[in-house]
Amino acid sequence: MPDVFADLVGQDEAVDTLRRAAAAASAVLRAAAAASAVLRAAAVVPTTDADGPDALAEESADAQAAVAVDAGAGMTHAWIFTGPPGSGRSVAARAFAAALQCAYGTGCGACPGCHTTMTGTHADVRMVVPEGLSIGVNEMRALVLRAASTPSGGRWQVVVIEDADRLTEAAGNALLKAIEEPPPRTVFLLCAPSTHPEDISVTIRSRCRVVPLGQPSPDAVAEVLVRRDGVTPDVARWAAAAAQGHVGRARRLARDPEARKRREAVLAVPRRLTGVGAAFDAASALIEAAEAEAEASVAEADAAERAALETALGAGGTGRGAAGAIRGAAGQLKDLEKRQRSRATRAQRDALDRALVDLAGFYRDALTMALRAPVAPVHTDTAALAGAGAQKWDAEGTLRRLEAVLECRAAIEANVKPRIAVEAMMLSLWKG
Ligand SMILES: [Zn+2]
Repeated sequence: MPDVFADLVGQDEAVDTLRRAAAAASAVLRAAAAASAVLRAAAVVPTTDADGPDALAEESADAQAAVAVDAGAGMTHAWIFTGPPGSGRSVAARAFAAALQCAYGTGCGACPGCHTTMTGTHADVRMVVPEGLSIGVNEMRALVLRAASTPSGGRWQVVVIEDADRLTEAAGNALLKAIEEPPPRTVFLLCAPSTHPEDISVTIRSRCRVVPLGQPSPDAVAEVLVRRDGVTPDVARWAAAAAQGHVGRARRLARDPEARKRREAVLAVPRRLTGVGAAFDAASALIEAAEAEAEASVAEADAAERAALETALGAGGTGRGAAGAIRGAAGQLKDLEKRQRSRATRAQRDALDRALVDLAGFYRDALTMALRAPVAPVHTDTAALAGAGAQKWDAEGTLRRLEAVLECRAAIEANVKPRIAVEAMMLSLWKG
């Protein structure tokens, strides 16, 4: 049975840190239990304390746990996992959460603590996956409140916040308060692209230990595709290179023919750019493909949520009170639609960004060829096309095109309307 860190690809140093921390966390719990047992034994002596010995023991155990945590014995209560998309930030956070809940303190992968955490059903582990463009303050307050309760499994309350860079300022402040005065058995695990102040506020950063993840090597990604997903070595090597270190993307390319088709369409863009009209056509095609991909990815969840809400609201009910219920229901449906629109927008941006990363990979290949750099191409299947481009545009023209793609990503990130940013990029790619 592989342990919980097995899927964390090419991150040996981070895994080392997390294993040590999990062992230290287990030692903290043992120390607290021992202290509690000593106090319980001492409590055999009659006492007139109204609170009773148990309350005293509990307090002391918590205090001891807090002391041990603060002693920095490899464990601390707030962590930030940083790294480029696809490097495994949330995989690392979930694996660490499992190791904290592991009966053996190692993340064995087999005990109920490990198993329920990895399958997302552990009562003391909450994964916050924002679906809209940001995580709001109400969501965060409710979370912080629940995180402060005593862990039902007797180990830790673990809160994992994926995309902590998408916290609103108010939500960030609510989180900061909890991290500044942490309940003794609560651990916060944040995931963000980097510790840049734009991603994570300086004050939150200063209270957390950072676990940096690098971009895994194509070899490491290919290895895990073969071992875990049963992909053939040839396909695994191709997908790992094409995905540029993004493990999830590599797996999709290796297994999903639709994802491969979309990638091929994106990589056909450079040779389709024969004039202004073609540039605008290519922009439309790219935007519409991203929209279609996003719609496919959220449609099922949208329909299921709506059906669940309608059932909960007793859709189709008649009789007294039904009119009032329908008015209330309309409000709730409106809220749901708003959340779903926000999720769809984000799915579209993510799909478009993946396409732009593929396109950037193509021009990067052309640039390394123009410079005769001894580097393996990202897209082995369009290497010949990239080579032809390198000859036609020379290094400078290729670099300008690569920059146009990167500027387009930055513009969309800065909330420029995607169509406008993509049209500007296509014109630059055509003109050079
Ligand atoms: Zn375990």
